[in-house]
Amino acid sequence: MKNTPTDPVPLLQDLIRCKSVTPAEGGALTYLEDLLSTHGFTCQRLIFKAEGTPDVENLFARLGSGAPHLCFAGHTDVVPEGIEENWTHPPFAAEIRDGFIYGRGACDMKGSVAAFAAAAVDFARASPKIKGSISFLITGDEEGPAINGTVKVLEWMKENGHIPDHCIVGEPSSADKLGDTIKIGRRGSLSFIVTAEGKQGHAAYPHKADNPVPKLARLVDRISSAKLDDGNDHFDPSTLAVTSFDVGNPAGNVIPSRAVAKFNIRFSPEHNFDSLRLWVDQHIAIVKGELGGNWSYSSIEGADAFITEPGAFVGLVQDAVENETGMLPKLSTSGGTSDARFVKDYCPVLEFGPTNATIHQTDERIAIDELKATQTIYSRIIAAYFSAEL
Ligand SMILES: [Zn+2]
Repeated sequence: MKNTPTDPVPLLQDLIRCKSVTPAEGGALTYLEDLLSTHGFTCQRLIFKAEGTPDVENLFARLGSGAPHLCFAGHTDVVPEGIEENWTHPPFAAEIRDGFIYGRGACDMKGSVAAFAAAAVDFARASPKIKGSISFLITGDEEGPAINGTVKVLEWMKENGHIPDHCIVGEPSSADKLGDTIKIGRRGSLSFIVTAEGKQGHAAYPHKADNPVPKLARLVDRISSAKLDDGNDHFDPSTLAVTSFDVGNPAGNVIPSRAVAKFNIRFSPEHNFDSLRLWVDQHIAIVKGELGGNWSYSSIEGADAFITEPGAFVGLVQDAVENETGMLPKLSTSGGTSDARFVKDYCPVLEFGPTNATIHQTDERIAIDELKATQTIYSRIIAAYFSAEL
């Protein structure tokens, strides 16, 4: 007897109706826990706390105990709905109109959670004695400070022998069409605050002062026009954006003693935090050699750059997508950060999910056809994963 696939539509509707704006759980994790435990998954609710941040509920669910172990990482928290009157259909009602399910989280990312849950449930029903394991790492703190979420669940997984061999993050990675893009890494981010100091003085007697403004301007010009690297096969060249140039001087007849600039670098794996600090050191040294001045800076580390090198795992996911859509997905490292930045410290990770055209917007919605195709792709990935030798 062939089982009919689990319908992801009511599943997604139920999840959207759980009002889980970060950090509220809203019943979404309880709903998933019930569904997965009914199908043989062992579930753990993990509540993490830290001073100054709200407590966050998370869920880890695992079917099977051996290797290979494939993990789906996602979140059930959503961003706020904004102005509810602006929605064509209420943000937490999950109404269906013209083939679309409307609601906050439809794409980011209750849609992928519902699609993967449906795929995993079907797999569990068809193969009760799974050789290997399939698990869910679902956080309630992805759209928030991300302190009591995925980072801490991963630490807990490590302590308890649950680190997977491979992980798929369900972020909506597709751009224009489902399956056009898989994300296999992200650029890093590092910010700088540079201060140039001189000597205050009267604007009529500049020779008696030491003006830091032209010195800092020279530095800003240098670093904005210099090349950081050429990128590589999977990354565009690193970029630098000057975000602030501040003197804070209200007087037109006073040469200020200090000027401050801020800039942010988005970098490829051709760089790291240390190499970028060295790069900034060198530019400051050159400007100091030319114009003098007292210089100092601080840097604020965002995320490091990372890549999951294309290989058997990435290829398996690409094939699963192509078999469904007829189109080979592009491997991308563009865009902002996601929880994949934490997972990459433990195992190879990639991001695959539906289109992201309406995420975080009024009238966020997903086409039912797209939701079902996402489920089918996840089913193909699961089937291929547990029959392949990676
Ligand atoms: Zn998301």
